[in-house]
Amino acid sequence: MSAGLFDAESLHMGPPDPARAESAGVTPPTEGGDPAVRPRREVPEPAPIATHGPATVLAMCNQKGGVGKTTSTINLGAALAEYGRRVLLVDFDPQGALSVGLGVQPHELDVTIYNLIMERRVTLDDVVRPTAVEGLDLLPSNIDLSAAEVQLVTEVGREQTLGRTLAPALEDYDYVLVDCQPSLGLLTVNALACAHGVLIPLECEYFSLRGVALLMDTIEKVQDRLNPDLKILGILATMFDPRTLHTREVRQRVIEAFGDLVFDAVINRTVRFPETTVAGEPITTWAPHSGGAESYRLLAREVLSR
Ligand code: ADP
Ligand code: MG
Repeated sequence: MSAGLFDAESLHMGPPDPARAESAGVTPPTEGGDPAVRPRREVPEPAPIATHGPATVLAMCNQKGGVGKTTSTINLGAALAEYGRRVLLVDFDPQGALSVGLGVQPHELDVTIYNLIMERRVTLDDVVRPTAVEGLDLLPSNIDLSAAEVQLVTEVGREQTLGRTLAPALEDYDYVLVDCQPSLGLLTVNALACAHGVLIPLECEYFSLRGVALLMDTIEKVQDRLNPDLKILGILATMFDPRTLHTREVRQRVIEAFGDLVFDAVINRTVRFPETTVAGEPITTWAPHSGGAESYRLLAREVLSR
């Protein structure tokens, strides 16, 4: 990747222009060609598969919190599983939101991903658990994982700890999705170091582009020093509100900056997602015919075709 492509300058998006913001309010969706929605590319229906593995590892990454990383991990995973893929979701955030979103109470767990990466006697089979979705498994986490960040600092090969841990699982799955914590610290670097691709959920809000330059910088460093094969799989526009001008402008800006990397799938802002967290299941099973479920299915088809 060329160094200056994603520099801070080209990604800078200033504060909303007051005159513009006034008229932004709520605007009806435009007829026909919406500038924020490119004509869709052809995405083939995924072919069924008879055998599984080796897995593609994807890091779900953005150091900003609340942008939809965890929601996208759960629902992309569930949609891939619907297409017959075997998927392992890795909760790599001490907050344990991915585990909660799948109905697991993190504080009640005896063993988590923390034990798996820090204790040699703990095996994947001790920690992995099925979910209510067929083909979708979970490596849960809880607050214990926050200690790993400190403890790993003195380990030999500290950046490759997660990769070593996941290696035995790769044969059994088609996708491993790692839900990263909202920071660019050692845990996130571990995810990037073992991933084939990075999927960046990006909130359609002013200022959301600013942090991306820093994330791109970290990705380039990991490519240089740890994982030359790491690719940016794509950028997913989240929290999209089709009624407001500014959210559409932000998506337009993201398309200008990242072109084909931006997925056609767009995740609208809807209260249905917080509701699924309470329900402890993916939107694809909780509200299978909702727009949100359909959007994540489109994302899954795009991921399968990239
Ligand atoms: P992150 O993992 O990046 O911190 P989350 O996926 O946990 O982000 O989302 C943050 C909050 O926003 C959660 O309460 C979640 O339920 C909610 N949320 C996620 N996606 C959407 C969406 N498309 N529309 C509305 N709320 C959402
Ligand atoms: Mg999260």
